[in-house]
Amino acid sequence: MPPRLGGMKTLIVYAHPEPRSLNGSLKDLAVTTLEEAGHEVRVSDLYAMNWKAVVDAEDYGPYASSPLRVAQDSGRAFDASALTPDVAAEQEKLLWSDTIIFQFPLWWYTMPAILKGWVDRVFTFHFAYGVGEHSDTKYGERFGEGTLAGRRALLSVTTGGPESHYAARGINGPIDDLLWPIQHGILYYPGLEVLPPFVLHSTDRLTAQDYPEVAKAWQERLLTLATTEPIAFRRQNFGDYEIPALHLRPGLEPADRTGFALHIRG
Ligand SMILES: Cc1cc2nc3c(=O)[nH]c(=O)nc-3n(C[C@H](O)[C@H](O)[C@H](O)COP(=O)(O)OP(=O)(O)OC[C@H]3O[C@@H](n4cnc5c(N)ncnc54)[C@H](O)[C@@H]3O)c2cc1C
Repeated sequence: MPPRLGGMKTLIVYAHPEPRSLNGSLKDLAVTTLEEAGHEVRVSDLYAMNWKAVVDAEDYGPYASSPLRVAQDSGRAFDASALTPDVAAEQEKLLWSDTIIFQFPLWWYTMPAILKGWVDRVFTFHFAYGVGEHSDTKYGERFGEGTLAGRRALLSVTTGGPESHYAARGINGPIDDLLWPIQHGILYYPGLEVLPPFVLHSTDRLTAQDYPEVAKAWQERLLTLATTEPIAFRRQNFGDYEIPALHLRPGLEPADRTGFALHIRG
């Protein structure tokens, strides 16, 4: 029996239109596995909620400018506690949670549009960005600081393509690079620590016979979330970057390191 860890408050944000899909099964398994281990779980099932995926003036009511200024207007509505109830509820769930799992299939090399729309609408100005002091020495609270600091996030992603297509020399590009905009740009930006993703490849060929092994691997990840080390992204305001250029200071990285990986310590 795995150890009972207990006490985590987990939000699962789930994006798949079919409850009987593999993604649906993985979401259901996460709920039962975490609850049986003594954790609290809430689920945002975006298709079941009929989640509105596009930002528009209706999101900001009387705080919508004409012409619409999405960032500023979302911040004004946030400051006035006047965001729409659906968005306010998601922000409340994020603040309630200490662990956030995103369960989705890779569609066109990224998350399904409904999930991107969740980010666009829920991660408002003054909540997820435009937070903290902007000065000569500090460029806001982001990348290691911010509203969601102290919480952890995990992507659970299924792909159609096999693992080799997503390897360092694979034609699709490395999976870590494809997930970079989500893991670093969306999750680390407002302060979430990001755990290494749980990625299942070749899922279109998965059979009922294959599923128990997949389920076991997922349960093992779920039951070790509390002790899993996050990806060591560099923090913005703690000396690694020149401010305001936000260039990585020379010499901090291993000699052969380039690209996105520059922004990971060690
Ligand atoms: C618009 C679109 C874009 C895409 N873009 C990409 C892309 O960029 N890169 C890429 O690699 N792939 C891509 N794909 C493929 C996609 O990532 C996969 O189809 C998806 O990840 C499979 O997950 P699913 O939940 O939809 O699987 P499902 O179709 O629900 O299931 C997959 C298989 O698992 C089986 N299965 C076994 N046990 C279970 C169980 N207990 N519960 C449910 N199913 C089970 C099912 O029978 C089925 O054969 C794309 C697909 C679409 C529709």
